[in-house]
Amino acid sequence: MRQREVNTRLSTRPAADPPLYRAIVTGAAGFIGSHLVEALLEQGHEVVGVDAFTPSYPSVFKRANIAWASAHPRFDLLPADLNELALDEVLCPGDVIFHLAGRAGVRASWGQDFVDYSRANVEATQRVLEAALKRQAARVVLASSSSVYGDAPLPMQEDGPLLPVSPYGVSKLTAELLGRVYWKALGLPIVALRLFTVYGPRQRPDMAFHGFIDAIAHGQRVVLFGDGSQRRDFTFVSDIVTALLAAAARGEPGIPVNVGGGSSVTVAETIAIIERLVGRKAFIEQRPAPPGDARDTQASTDRLETLGALPRVGIEEGLAHQVEWQLARVRGHNASGTMAPSPPGERVSEGRAAHVLLYSHDTYGLGHLRRNTTIAHGLRQRAPQLHITLLTGSPVADQWPLPEGVSLVHLPPVVKVGPDEYQPIEPRSLSAVRAERAGIIASTLLRLRPDVFLVDHAPLGMKGELALALQMAREKLPSTRVVLGLRDILDASEVVRTAWEAQGLYATIENSYDQVLVYGSRELFDVAHEYGFPESLVRRTRFTGYIAKDRGLEPAVRGREAWSRARRAGDRRILLMAGGGGDAAPMLLAALDAWESLRHLLFGEAVVVMGPLMSPTDRAAVERRAHQVSNVQVIGSSTTVLSLVAAADLVVSMGGYNSVVEAITARKPLVICPRAAPRREQLMRAEIMAGLGLARVARLDGDGDAAARIADAMIAALKAGPPSTPAWGTIDLRGAERVADFLLGMTQRISEPVAA
Ligand code: NAD
Repeated sequence: MRQREVNTRLSTRPAADPPLYRAIVTGAAGFIGSHLVEALLEQGHEVVGVDAFTPSYPSVFKRANIAWASAHPRFDLLPADLNELALDEVLCPGDVIFHLAGRAGVRASWGQDFVDYSRANVEATQRVLEAALKRQAARVVLASSSSVYGDAPLPMQEDGPLLPVSPYGVSKLTAELLGRVYWKALGLPIVALRLFTVYGPRQRPDMAFHGFIDAIAHGQRVVLFGDGSQRRDFTFVSDIVTALLAAAARGEPGIPVNVGGGSSVTVAETIAIIERLVGRKAFIEQRPAPPGDARDTQASTDRLETLGALPRVGIEEGLAHQVEWQLARVRGHNASGTMAPSPPGERVSEGRAAHVLLYSHDTYGLGHLRRNTTIAHGLRQRAPQLHITLLTGSPVADQWPLPEGVSLVHLPPVVKVGPDEYQPIEPRSLSAVRAERAGIIASTLLRLRPDVFLVDHAPLGMKGELALALQMAREKLPSTRVVLGLRDILDASEVVRTAWEAQGLYATIENSYDQVLVYGSRELFDVAHEYGFPESLVRRTRFTGYIAKDRGLEPAVRGREAWSRARRAGDRRILLMAGGGGDAAPMLLAALDAWESLRHLLFGEAVVVMGPLMSPTDRAAVERRAHQVSNVQVIGSSTTVLSLVAAADLVVSMGGYNSVVEAITARKPLVICPRAAPRREQLMRAEIMAGLGLARVARLDGDGDAAARIADAMIAALKAGPPSTPAWGTIDLRGAERVADFLLGMTQRISEPVAA
């Protein structure tokens, strides 16, 4: 019971025999909320905890946080979302509400995740205030943050300027102002506490100290944002709990109070302390300070002193408690007494390097393999020690350039021959191959026990081959995060909705996936809306931006995979790309016709890349045609396509995700000749890109001469030149980085910048 000794020894300093009340703690399973719940129970209060177990970090932590309290006879836990819960039905007149639920963390609050912040911090708060008003709560204590000050002069005074420098800070300030309005206009007694960077046992895994301690204990890189000289007012969690209790007992409504002043030290100093406590040197990787992080923080503590809740725990002592807690988890001991033992397989408790397992069924084309390889590359660049395994059914995976150290697990290849029709490459029955694939996937998952299992595109894999693995993940690997990665566009909305409904995929995703990543932009195509995701799934969905392959992934350009003619003035280099090549022959033949028809206008060279999946018959046809046209070089398939793209003046391609993104990333004039059936995905993507001014569309289907359409589009694209800066700026191409950061965040190896 050492953790409970920590709590009683260091934290609660109640007035003698405080009056008992019923406390409602929102965010009860979180870092601070769970400590507060325990302190309230110890004082004899009745406590109702509300927590939605949001996926901001793995719920395994939250379940462990609240495990001790959950067994307490005076505690009830409502696993509910405040944005949906009718809280007024839970409240009784005279209740004291501690509103701690919210989305914390500065870094993720930029970009599309802000909706989560606004929902959790602003809308949920407004609902809590309404319910409190309706049910005449005795008091509401709001957890606000030092981030409302931004870069205000030090020490930060409660009456001083409030100029947040992050969207998170804006959301917390908005919540606080809402509280003020409910007090001023409607008399609801509210006290807002501005908490300064909180630490201690159970600290969120995305927070800096948690990341530092973990990394140092595992001999991994400590990612330090900024130069380490930034100063923070670190506040030990038991001091926060003391202040929360004091605010409930005697805080003055409408008067915000800083809770800080425990220890004002630099981040570099805290790393030195952790090194000493862990007994190991830190291997520091410095990164630029991200936007949103205040330079220094320091609380003015006059009001806190009046409240009788000045902090008592210094940084050395507080960090010793956090290090003790975290190392106990690493060793698998239950040193805290209030911590539930780590569930089996929880990587944090095993002291092994983290592992990411990527799966793609790869039954058609190269798109999935290419995307997963790019993601693996992003992960490898950020985390050299991470284990990465690629499970793939691609018949060309062996020849595919993989980032160093990525392991391959092969699935017997199967080719898609029609809508939902597949044929194994080996002469075996589909059901036998499917069963073998399902077995390989499930056994690999169980053997590797990865921290993250990323599934590309098909929630149930080829013909439901993932069902067994997903069930295993649910039953046996509670700490494996299962993530679904979806392309920017799958097909027309009604087609996807009907198919997903028929196959029960909404329920599959709901039950089996912790998170959905969409490798595109919500603004360009809102997958969640178009495909009718239920609200609960919308909340689990993130748009990452487009995933563009990094040229670092290509080996040096060799031999034929280059432009062969020296370029003379006026020469044009036209690249005709077929992606995987499975059904690209008609496009290449039409594009060769177009090139021939333009020979009187265009000089230079065309390079045709056929793709590894083109059939021998199609290959022969393309080669035959190419020989009849001057200045054409044909390449069977290329692993250095980006180098070719980089030197091209114009790219003509089908509408596959990777080809389109590669050409746009290189900012090349682009003609897309999309396939329009059996799926409309390529056509839809092509039209979106054309609408943005990033490509021209030349349809292969329809009446008339496709070659003439391609020739017209080529001339128009060359005339217009590379996309303008405003057009190019409309597309978000940073998906690879974001996905890697997000997955690494899930392995809990990289920390948040130090912030409130
Ligand atoms: P936490 O993420 O550990 O806890 C927040 C809890 O709220 C989570 O368990 C989450 O599941 C829950 N939650 C979120 N949205 C919800 C909703 N709509 N309905 C029900 N539950 C929901 O974070 P924490 O570090 O314990 O922070 C608690 C509060 O203190 C937050 O409001 C945060 O903004 C604030 N704060 C924290 C710090 C800090 O350093 N930790 C500093 C300043 C302010």
